[in-house]
Amino acid sequence: MIVGVLDLQGAVSEHVDMLAQCQVDAKLIKKAADLSGVDGLIMPGGESTVIYKLLVQEQLLEPLRQLIQVGLPVFGTCAGMVLLTQAKAFGALPATVVRNGFGRQKDSFEQAISVVGFDEPFHGVFIRAPYLTAVDESVTILATIDDEKVIAAQYAHILVTAFHPELTADTRFHEKFIQLIANK
Ligand code: GLN
Repeated sequence: MIVGVLDLQGAVSEHVDMLAQCQVDAKLIKKAADLSGVDGLIMPGGESTVIYKLLVQEQLLEPLRQLIQVGLPVFGTCAGMVLLTQAKAFGALPATVVRNGFGRQKDSFEQAISVVGFDEPFHGVFIRAPYLTAVDESVTILATIDDEKVIAAQYAHILVTAFHPELTADTRFHEKFIQLIANK
């Protein structure tokens, strides 16, 4: 199995390290040709406006959108979740995304999160994090804050977290994504 990591901007090397811990080969994706042969793709956190511009500039937006449409498994963290949801980017998740959704006071915070299917809470690292709202009922909600702010979800072959599992030592979300690819 080879998992691509979108290498335009943001927390790229941390995801590569997580994949190594899960004994999965990572491939850095900088241009469309790099996508050949990958079984899944991680879209890291960073700054979604910057990553969006680079996706357009590097002519990656359209090829990636098509691959996602035909079922390429994708795991988006933070800005990755924003891009997967925003209609102008990938529009792959039927929900509304609120960027920087936790306001100035709580630009960055850490919180133990209950996740559907995990026995123990997950240590959520939130950095100017988004959340999802108006989530279609076809989406599986995996975690929320204040009940209505969705911060982890799965929709068919798409997994998203508003927080940064790659900034912890906990590989459970990466393992979950690898399972998702394996079960495809
Ligand atoms: N607030 C950023 C954005 O909307 C995301 C922050 C992050 O990825 N840590 O792009």
